[in-house]
Amino acid sequence: MARFLKTSRDAAARAEDLHKVRVTVEGILADIEARGDAAVRELSVKFDGWDRDDYRLSEQEIEACLSKLTRRDLDDIRFAQEQVRNFARHQKDALKDIEVETLPGVVLGHKNIPVNSVGCYVPGGKYPLLASAHMSVITAKVAGVKRIVTCAPPYHGEPAPAIVAAQHLAGADAIYCLGGIQAVGAMALGTQSMEPVDMLVGPGNAFVAEAKRQLYGRVGIDLFAGPTETLVIADESVDAEMCATDLLGQAEHGPNSPAILLTNSEKLARETMAEVERLLTILPTAEVARKAWEDYGEVIVCDSYEEMVREADRIASEHVQVMTRDPDYFLANMTNYGALFLGPRTNVAFGDKVIGTNHTLPTLKSARYTGGLWVGKFLKTCTYQRVLTDEASAMIGEYCSRLCMLEGFAGHAEQANVRVRRYGGRNIPY
Ligand code: NAD
Repeated sequence: MARFLKTSRDAAARAEDLHKVRVTVEGILADIEARGDAAVRELSVKFDGWDRDDYRLSEQEIEACLSKLTRRDLDDIRFAQEQVRNFARHQKDALKDIEVETLPGVVLGHKNIPVNSVGCYVPGGKYPLLASAHMSVITAKVAGVKRIVTCAPPYHGEPAPAIVAAQHLAGADAIYCLGGIQAVGAMALGTQSMEPVDMLVGPGNAFVAEAKRQLYGRVGIDLFAGPTETLVIADESVDAEMCATDLLGQAEHGPNSPAILLTNSEKLARETMAEVERLLTILPTAEVARKAWEDYGEVIVCDSYEEMVREADRIASEHVQVMTRDPDYFLANMTNYGALFLGPRTNVAFGDKVIGTNHTLPTLKSARYTGGLWVGKFLKTCTYQRVLTDEASAMIGEYCSRLCMLEGFAGHAEQANVRVRRYGGRNIPY
């Protein structure tokens, strides 16, 4: 039986937090829809202290941001972008259009058509998360999206140079310095100055994730990618320092970022809890990480790998770091996760920043029904069909006619019958 050595805040308190966010988002989106640019500006001043007539950055402003970075910074950004682009291209290559003859004379196919325009949100409230620009803008480009708009909040009162560089180098068509609900609301609903997009992508805090969720339907969204979560699965093949570092490395994202240790060793569990306390005395971002660990951290001890898989699938975490003697056991058996990091040589930060897999990943258990952002999310798989011969049309038509009448659809049946008459020469009365 799985035993909790440390539990998180109770579910009711967490649900209450989410409820407050929901109500805030609802009101703000309604305001943006009603008043457009005027509302966006007021909200930007209110939440970010950021006031402009036009939130779109000019070419000169973009150049000014690039010039604030060192050549090394720019090379590092380019390297990370190349890894993301490369893996996205391989993923795209695996997505083929198909056309098959399923019965003599019956041809069915599908085409993967890119969404025409997307809005990519790049988070930047607490940290300038430039990597999110690679993850959404580059992936959209590889998918073939024609118009890519991107928004990130101001950081310390101005556009974050590293984010702007990443947005620009990734190939965004328009870059706005705008954050939070007002950014995703403006991109999705459109304003007097901003043409609406067809789809919103990218991660963000609870407000951003909830705004995307509420806007779904008006526009497409990639997935529910809210506050970061991490699950470390470990046995005694690793030590407490590795486990504690990997827990806090993600807990520092924000005070509501769950970090969970799942192990079959009570000794490792207790040592990791002690090591977390030690690291919290030296980590520069300890204030945030401590709050996340205290409110959302969990330590669970299981009896076997099988039980660890069951628990991990129940948790359905965004990131899962596996450091066990047999990491491939978890790859073979786990079904609910955003991304797996197999073995101690890799880790979530590699995936977050540079290795090439996408870091925009499902949270709040949405890994039960979706993976993370990838080229496929930007493609609509649209089917078509053709019937090549008179015989095929009449044969399918007869089946169709009978099936329509089973449902009581006389009009549908007649669509079939008219073809049976014309192409099959059968005399079916109207
Ligand atoms: P953010 O850009 O997501 O949000 C900042 C904006 O939130 C601000 O611009 C402000 O307008 C708005 N805001 C702040 N307080 C508000 C309030 N009380 N009411 C309304 N709006 C408010 O940046 P962040 O806050 O630093 O959060 C980034 C988040 O992205 C973190 O939670 C991180 O874990 C998450 N993340 C998730 C993934 C993923 O794939 N799931 C990946 C990377 C980052």
